[in-house]
Amino acid sequence: MSSDAVLDARAREHSLDRLEAEAFDLAIVGGGIGGAGLAREAARRGLRVALLEAEDFAAGTSSRSSKLIHGGLRYLALGDVALVRTTALERKAVHRIAPHLAEPRWMLVPARSRASLLKFQVGLATYETLGAVADADRHRTWTGDELAREEPSLDRERYPYACAYREYLTDDARLVLANLRSAAADGALALAYAPVVGVLREGSRAGGVAVRCALSGRALRVRARAVVNAAGPWVDELAALEAPERPGRLHLSKGVHVCVPAERLPVNHLAVLAAPDRRSIFAIRRGGVVYLGTTDTSYAGSSRLWPEIGRADVEYLLAPASRDFAVEPLAPRDVVAAWAGLRPLVAEPGKPAREMSRKDEVFVGPLGVVSLAGGKLTGYRPMARATLERAAEVAGLALADRGDEPPLAGGDFPGDLTALAAALRRARPALEAAAAERLVRLYGAEADDVLALGDKPLAPGVPVFAGEVDWAVTREGACRLEDVHYRRTRAALYEPAAREAALEPAAEQLRGLLGWSDATRAAELARTRARLASDLDFAEDAP
Ligand code: FAD
Repeated sequence: MSSDAVLDARAREHSLDRLEAEAFDLAIVGGGIGGAGLAREAARRGLRVALLEAEDFAAGTSSRSSKLIHGGLRYLALGDVALVRTTALERKAVHRIAPHLAEPRWMLVPARSRASLLKFQVGLATYETLGAVADADRHRTWTGDELAREEPSLDRERYPYACAYREYLTDDARLVLANLRSAAADGALALAYAPVVGVLREGSRAGGVAVRCALSGRALRVRARAVVNAAGPWVDELAALEAPERPGRLHLSKGVHVCVPAERLPVNHLAVLAAPDRRSIFAIRRGGVVYLGTTDTSYAGSSRLWPEIGRADVEYLLAPASRDFAVEPLAPRDVVAAWAGLRPLVAEPGKPAREMSRKDEVFVGPLGVVSLAGGKLTGYRPMARATLERAAEVAGLALADRGDEPPLAGGDFPGDLTALAAALRRARPALEAAAAERLVRLYGAEADDVLALGDKPLAPGVPVFAGEVDWAVTREGACRLEDVHYRRTRAALYEPAAREAALEPAAEQLRGLLGWSDATRAAELARTRARLASDLDFAEDAP
């Protein structure tokens, strides 16, 4: 079976048969960046890997982040120098293997006085030293005409100065998918909608996991020598399958992002803004929107997959943008998309969520299940390495040498996205510049292969192509309309013109690809529309 066939949603029954029939070295629970990065690392080091995801791949926190591969400048202020150093160095490593998923961009830090400018410059110099930033990429200062040119809509009376430093923009869900496709190319088997419901025992050790297919109800046992729990915000639940009496380790913190049309907030670069409580939030342009985020509040609600977005969260995020940019004040009715996610932080009793470390931690349960808690998207590679080494030690698995790390799926190009988009347009002259840019950011060097499956937009004026729907199902395991709209094409987040207009044509195409009945097609449309509406239905008293 080819690597692409492994992630073809049409081959699902075959994958279920294989999961039941084969014996694996490693079973991974969770298909976010923690699980996907581990699957990639384990497969390329010679292990037979099965990854089980309860929902869609990246359905949890790994599609709800701020989408930055960053050193986390603010953690410097919290004294977490080691974390800042690792993550700052990781930016270059991720850029090397997936330049489309770690795009260097200028991040603007506006300053009201020379004194605060100086403070930023000192902090940035430390950050750049920790991250071994090349001279050409070191921060710069913009004032006067230069600032007006670079960021014309910034309120320059309020902010006469700004520092600009390099950060790397990613797409979290697509980073997960790129890791899974690379893992599959090295033999890993990954299945979505396959929740783990139990840990199998082999004597006094874990010998695999019990799974119940969420689409068909089929129950199966997956045998594996090692089991890793990479269930993000659900890590404690998974650990309880093994040791129900143990107290949980996690503290969940909610983070909200809201999107406004780029015309309403014409931000050129990425920008750091000060929230009403002096926390930093980001303003990031992507597709047709600028997204603002994030909040950081302890979460005790019950909706872990889709945490509620409160009106107060939205107002908190809009206020700094209205204040710092010369635009009409933004109101909740300007928001065209929004998402919330939960940070699975390692609990530090007595500290507020925003002061808790973003460090990752690996712990081993009584049956030898290795759990991965905390961490950041940015540090997924070293996290995967540490978890794999621990699991190999616990289960006595031999790991092949690491060797040079090849590019991730779609990452095999010299690194210049503008040049890649230009090459795509030369090959396909009818393609507009904005469409080419969007496609290379999502699919990297594979953008042309995606269009080869269908180069017509889903509908007039909709910046999503038919080939993307086909690719999502046949190469990236999408089973449902929501999977395509939210985590493959990302239209639900970044493309207001496609939020509703892409749905009917995508559902029609999925009907053909997945053999849906009329009733299934209608149910999928209704379900996705309800989801889209509920993203914008801000609660007065969200937890
Ligand atoms: P998840 O992505 O949640 O994956 C866990 C998966 O396990 C889920 O898909 C879930 O469905 C699955 N699962 C649960 N139970 C089961 C089961 N029984 N069987 C099978 N599967 C199961 N980091 C950065 O580096 N940069 C950023 O800009 C950034 N911004 C952030 C902004 C916000 C608002 C938040 C919340 C986090 C941010 N982070 C950022 C942190 C980063 O997103 C997370 O650390 C990371 O995505 C966590 O990945 P994960 O794989 O551990 O969890």
